[in-house]
Amino acid sequence: MTAVNLLDFDLDALAAYCERLGEKRFRAVQLFRWIHQRGATDFEQMTDLAKSLRSKLSGVAVIQPLPVISEHASTDGTVKWLFDVGAGNAVEAVFIPEDDRGTLCVSSQAGCAVGCRFCSTGHQGFSRNLSTGEILAQLWYAEHSLRRHAATRTPHRLGPQGLQGTQPVERVITNVVMMGMGEPLQNYAAVLPALRVMLDDHGYGLSRRRVTVSTSGVVPMMDRLGADLPVALAVSLHAPDDALRDPLVPINRKYPLAELLGACQRYLKTAPRDFITFEYCMLDGVNDTEAHARALLALVGSQGPVGRVPCKFNLIPFNPFPASGLLRSKREQVEAFARVLIEGGLVTTVRKTRGDDIDAACGQLAGEVQDRTRAVVRMTRGPVLAAQRSDQP
Ligand code: SAH
Ligand code: SF4
Repeated sequence: MTAVNLLDFDLDALAAYCERLGEKRFRAVQLFRWIHQRGATDFEQMTDLAKSLRSKLSGVAVIQPLPVISEHASTDGTVKWLFDVGAGNAVEAVFIPEDDRGTLCVSSQAGCAVGCRFCSTGHQGFSRNLSTGEILAQLWYAEHSLRRHAATRTPHRLGPQGLQGTQPVERVITNVVMMGMGEPLQNYAAVLPALRVMLDDHGYGLSRRRVTVSTSGVVPMMDRLGADLPVALAVSLHAPDDALRDPLVPINRKYPLAELLGACQRYLKTAPRDFITFEYCMLDGVNDTEAHARALLALVGSQGPVGRVPCKFNLIPFNPFPASGLLRSKREQVEAFARVLIEGGLVTTVRKTRGDDIDAACGQLAGEVQDRTRAVVRMTRGPVLAAQRSDQP
């Protein structure tokens, strides 16, 4: 019998599991806190659990992180991890520190079936969905590994006993964005419990406003998320009309803009924020003219297909990769575009590129992952890589 990975469970599922082992719910809470708040992998560490339960668990369950293939830290503090998800597939997570927050960008799938033209994950094709445990393993590893680094740099932040002590430790990751590889709403069954763990006070205790799901526009699943667990929503728009969006974001043929905007309106009824964030990847000569910006104003304005959609725009400078045949918009073009949106009354930001020296930017991840994965396949027989890999934070 293969052991159960406890990273796959939200608290209710863990409680049900513990119940099957003859244990009360509060034991599950203790166990859950050990896993997610303390980063434990060894049941013997969990000294406040009865010895009988610890030995019961070690026979049937594991806390199984993802093997880390590589970790790169940028000079600006950005950290990128490449995780091995087996069969030659790898996924990436990126930590972006800012003055007032620490954001982790996580992946939901190995590859992606949507196939957007400007996205290297899309060009890679779809390999498979990640499990809840594999999604959470990225957060689990990043949080506890960053805490350990923070502890060595500034021990006082973690209290006199550090991580071994009983003092509550300061969280490093304050925000999670599902903007890594994959379309989270095409892996809803695994993403939903992972979101629950992120929000759970006994898990990562993040508020709904600090967890963002980014989608290319899987309309029925946007409705499901709005009903089940409304977190902050980002929608990857990239074009002001169907004729342009169809070839850029192929799922638009199934759920065209009017339907997508209708789903945004419905989502706002339960959303934790009173706006949708529209992401817009700036592609030179494709979608970046002032006329496109004016068309966007019309699309989300009161005369648009669904009336006014309360929103903010986040303009993303395209991260080029050769197979795309596309180029990044010039800076002046991005500025002119932003000016039109701002003068039209829309809050608009231009995403800063972070971690350039380690290729940590959006959509840059997968092509590289594939190359590295091939490198891993070639190198697994060698001792060097094995020595670099670590399952421990
Ligand atoms: N599948 C989801 C979430 C992952 S992609 C989605 O599409 O929303 C996260 C963001 O990165 C999306 O807005 C996507 O459009 C953007 N992106 C993808 N490839 C990019 C690239 N090469 N340059 C800049 N942004 C990119
Ligand atoms: Fe998939 Fe998002 Fe990339 Fe499109 S942009 S291919 S939906 S990961």
